[in-house]
This record gives sequence, C-alpha cells and structure tokens, in this order.
Amino acid sequence: MEACGDCKTLKQEFWLAREHYVSLIVQHDQMIRDSGSKTSTLDTAIKKARRRRNDAGRRFLDHRISHEDLISPHDNNSRAALKNT
Ligand SMILES: [Zn+2]
Repeated sequence: MEACGDCKTLKQEFWLAREHYVSLIVQHDQMIRDSGSKTSTLDTAIKKARRRRNDAGRRFLDHRISHEDLISPHDNNSRAALKNT
C-alpha cells in the first residue's frame, strides 16, 4: 500500500494530537498530585484534546481504508487472481 502526501499529513496530525493529549494528561496528573484534589482546570482541555486525537485517528484510518478501496472489489481480474493463490 502506497503512502501519499495525505497519509503523511494525517499521520502527522494524529501524532501531534496524541502528543498534545498525552502532555495534558501528564500535566493534569501533576496538578492533582500537587493540589490533592481530584479534578483540575485541565479537565475540559483534556476532553477536547481526546476528541481531537480520536477525530484525527479516524480521519487517518478512513484515508488508509480509501487506499485499499483503490484495489477495487469490482476488479474481477485481481479478485480471481487472489482466489487462485
Ligand atoms: Zn494516502
């Protein structure tokens, strides 16, 4: 499966979103440890970051799946070839 420019962009977006999310979690844990309370002001930011990470992950996956669709199920020759192997 070939990786195109979009693959790289989407993968990068996902990676950055995930890094951002992880760094917020770390800060959040630190704040909770320091303050002794169960929640922090980062709660909302973390939820947003998690949603963004999930969205980015889904976009990346959807895009990768669209590559597989290029190997079309309507392409009878390649399907027959697969069957014969
Ligand atoms: Zn691609």
